[in-house]
Amino acid sequence: MKVLIVGGVAGGASAATRLRRLDETAQIILFEKGEFISYANCGLPYYLGGAIKERGRLVVTKPELLIQQFNIDVRIFSEVIQIDREQKRVTVKNHRTGESYFETYDKLLLSPGAEPKKPRLDGMDLEEIFTLRNVADTYKIDDFIKKLKPRRALIVGAGFIGVEMAENLKHRGLEVTVVEFLDQAVASLDFEMAAILHRHMREFGIQLLLGTGVAGFNKTEAIEVVLSNTLTLETDMVIMSIGITPESHLAKEAGLTLGVGGSIAVDESYATSDPDIFAVGDAISVRHLISGNEVLIPLAGPANKQGRAVAESILGIPGKHHREVQGSAILKVFDLTAASTGLTEKQLKGNNIPYLKTYIHPSSHASYYPGSTPISMKLLFNQEGRILGAQAVGFEGVDKRIDVLATALRLGATVYDLEELELCYAPPYSSAKDPVNMLGFTAANMLKGDTKVFHYDEVDGLDRNKITLLDVRAQEETIIGTLDGAINLPLEVLRQNMAKIPKDKPVYIFCQVGLRGYVAERILRQIGYEVYNLSGGFKTYKQAKEQYPEVLRSDMVDTSDSGVKIKPAETPLSAEPETQVKVIQVDACGLQCPGPIMKTAENMRALQSGEQLMIQATDPAFTSDIKVWAEKTGNRLLSISRDKSTFTALIEKGFEPSVSSAAKAVPAGNDKTMVVFSGDLDKAIAAFIIANGAAAMGRKVTMFFTFWGINILRKPEKVAVKKNFIESMFGLMMPRGSAKLGLSRMNMGGLGGKMIRGLMKHHNVSSLEELIQAAISNGVEVLACQMSMDLMGIKEEELLEGVGLAGVATFLGSAETSDTNLFI
Ligand code: FAD
Repeated sequence: MKVLIVGGVAGGASAATRLRRLDETAQIILFEKGEFISYANCGLPYYLGGAIKERGRLVVTKPELLIQQFNIDVRIFSEVIQIDREQKRVTVKNHRTGESYFETYDKLLLSPGAEPKKPRLDGMDLEEIFTLRNVADTYKIDDFIKKLKPRRALIVGAGFIGVEMAENLKHRGLEVTVVEFLDQAVASLDFEMAAILHRHMREFGIQLLLGTGVAGFNKTEAIEVVLSNTLTLETDMVIMSIGITPESHLAKEAGLTLGVGGSIAVDESYATSDPDIFAVGDAISVRHLISGNEVLIPLAGPANKQGRAVAESILGIPGKHHREVQGSAILKVFDLTAASTGLTEKQLKGNNIPYLKTYIHPSSHASYYPGSTPISMKLLFNQEGRILGAQAVGFEGVDKRIDVLATALRLGATVYDLEELELCYAPPYSSAKDPVNMLGFTAANMLKGDTKVFHYDEVDGLDRNKITLLDVRAQEETIIGTLDGAINLPLEVLRQNMAKIPKDKPVYIFCQVGLRGYVAERILRQIGYEVYNLSGGFKTYKQAKEQYPEVLRSDMVDTSDSGVKIKPAETPLSAEPETQVKVIQVDACGLQCPGPIMKTAENMRALQSGEQLMIQATDPAFTSDIKVWAEKTGNRLLSISRDKSTFTALIEKGFEPSVSSAAKAVPAGNDKTMVVFSGDLDKAIAAFIIANGAAAMGRKVTMFFTFWGINILRKPEKVAVKKNFIESMFGLMMPRGSAKLGLSRMNMGGLGGKMIRGLMKHHNVSSLEELIQAAISNGVEVLACQMSMDLMGIKEEELLEGVGLAGVATFLGSAETSDTNLFI
């Protein structure tokens, strides 16, 4: 059998070698119009960016290998220019000699790929305008950069190749602008997922102009780019990457049937409308695994596998071929990875396929093991639980999660299967409940009716008069943003405050990522509320809605004349602290929002005005959260820098105490004060429960311990201090610390106290000692009355760490801004 193959890269080269492995006797001729066969199209942008250093690395297989090892007749610089189906022969033009000749075939395979779209615009023929398809294009761009040293590059189109080129030209030292006609980059993601990429690209100094088309180019001293919004932009070179068109002209001229988008139509065995002519790769249309529609999915994986499979069809070997494609794709964008499989929400809508969706933001691996970073994930599924599509964006572990989901989708798995998947786990790699399992749990909860969700895109349309919008995050978290009209009742105090939530209207709950919201939903649902939880929490809403500037800093752009000129990105502010100033360093890596912010707030409390806190975090939201937090709490963000996926912020403590500025979110005058006079165990427990609850709601709390109350604050161990006889006697008679306190009633010689402590433990209520420590670390001011201490002979050294000394003036000062003052 004589087989001719047109195109010597992904589909063509795979088919040629598989044919040889299956049939040693076949005559196989491979025609490639360019200089190289089997080159790494996917690696081309990385050569331009410098990650791949040698030109030779771009060629995966040389013709000699196919000739020597596979006995394939490889003809480079040989373009097939015509197919004569009657005579079963093709016309080949040898570009080295300029001559043409015929070659007959028994079977013909077309794998000519696809060519970059080149719109008919003014100035498209300028030599500074490039497309990227093959090695020759790559060398052309490379030589241009080396020779003419352009300062700026414009990329038209923010698809996979456009985004990869943006990153790589940035690495090459150019100032990069990307213009995209749609409102988002990378169409295989939905907007709210792509928004993470938009922000990341801008953070890396790429100017991303979305919803903007290019109307034409003029050559002046530079290239003037006329945009659809009438703005003019100057650049030194342009990469057009607005998509591809199947290279089907040969097939068309030969009268073969064409499919969608001008592709070559093929059947299950990759045969065209002529049974002796086959086609694979970017030139054909495929059936989508989920929608069943004919679509174009120009990716290397399908092309290579189709090349392998078509060899069997050509040789007439019966078997099942997989012409169905699901479109699994992955993209590196600086430190981020974005990946997807199956259909997007937009595509499901477009195909009228009913779907449900869920969002989660888990850690890439156990958060207590260093280096974990968050992943944002979205799962699309139907009422029966079948997986329809999945998307993920994050720094680590994105590829393996989407690969697992792609496998599940291919095998027709449901969300219930995801719940059951047993995936590898050790802390450096994952969590005992892997993010893939978590997607299964949240989706299955929706299907089982355990949770009713609402989504980020419904939030703005909710009529606030007809619902209660409930934010169950800690008060500190609300400083960095909340939903309009929301009331804040942290989950920790929800049970005690349920009376504040009207029962006659639905409650729409949200937290940061959806987990606490779900817990709150379960609490309220079980007592009869109609409740909905925001899937993916405030984080998903913020990712989708955040208005991020087109470039990170406006000082990088000069719009003083008609054109937008990009100034070179300034070096990030140094994170090196000045040596004279006290700086404390805090590690919040691995903690997810709000962890880093809570840690910042906690540590800032210990600082004096002018002192600095250097905090490291891996949560990408930290960069914007910390800015807002610092602004709203009267502190100063001195710098924020990034090293791979670790962010370092340097913050100077402001002159206003952060607690009071944080409290700007709540009406003034709602501080709480308490005089703790009693030294009884039950009263002490009550006092600290109230204090912790108020602190969690963001209230400033001052507890003033006087007379017997001071015993609560004594250290349990004996402290060597100098006392006179009466002071020593007093000290001996009074309980030393909280563990020795008795009940006010039914103490029964200490038995009652023990019983209460046992009951508290049984009901998971924190012990008094834990409550005291929590209050101190939550910023509750715990003050011991100096006068009572003197009277009772208790020394400062005998008090717990974190307890301050105060007189009545201090207490009264606090009481003035308080709306509640308890005497216990
Ligand atoms: P190609 O690999 O394009 O090969 C077609 C060959 O046919 C060409 O060399 C062409 O010169 C030759 N040819 C055309 N007409 C004739 C003719 N008449 N006579 C002789 N020869 C002819 N996919 C991914 O999955 N992941 C990625 O990361 C990725 N990155 C990419 C980056 C870039 C810059 C590009 C351009 C593509 C990328 N792709 C990626 C897509 C992937 O490369 C293609 O899907 C795949 O190569 C298609 O294989 P193919 O055989 O159909 O066509």
